[in-house]
Amino acid sequence: MAYALLVLAAALVVVIFELIRSLGIYGNLRGNHILTCPENQQPAGVRVAAGKAAIASLAGKPHLQLSECTRWPEMAGCGQECLPQIEQSPKDCLVSILVNRWYEGKKCVYCHKPFGEIHWHDHPPALVDEHRKTLQWNEVPLENLEQTLATHWPVCWNCHVAESFRRLHPELVTDRLRH
Ligand SMILES: [Zn+2]
Repeated sequence: MAYALLVLAAALVVVIFELIRSLGIYGNLRGNHILTCPENQQPAGVRVAAGKAAIASLAGKPHLQLSECTRWPEMAGCGQECLPQIEQSPKDCLVSILVNRWYEGKKCVYCHKPFGEIHWHDHPPALVDEHRKTLQWNEVPLENLEQTLATHWPVCWNCHVAESFRRLHPELVTDRLRH
């Protein structure tokens, strides 16, 4: 009896370990990734079938597959030769990590408040271009991410809202900065 319990406990530990490992795989693979398309050597935004990959890893057969790409549908049916880039370092091409890194140690260009830890579900930070037009990340096409990071400045949510209002309703705003 005691032996059977021991075997059961050992089996449970293995199952839990495998589940945690596959959850880790899922966590690293889900979300938008940015990589270099081997076909044209240009940035492309992709999503990986993360659930499938996690389940496949449980079955001991790791299998990576794209579920979306910014170059589809024109390039649909491509050989998905970009996948090794994700396999090698999934976190390095994960958009959320790249964007978080971009805000690290930076301050809002308007109010100079440091960003600290980013909460994407609640008042997420935005960015501003050289024409002082602020925008949110969902307005940035994935394939332009690298270029956007190089040409824009970080803005906090409050300043983004204020600046958007100022831009859309200049007649309603008394600009304190002008004085
Ligand atoms: Zn600000």
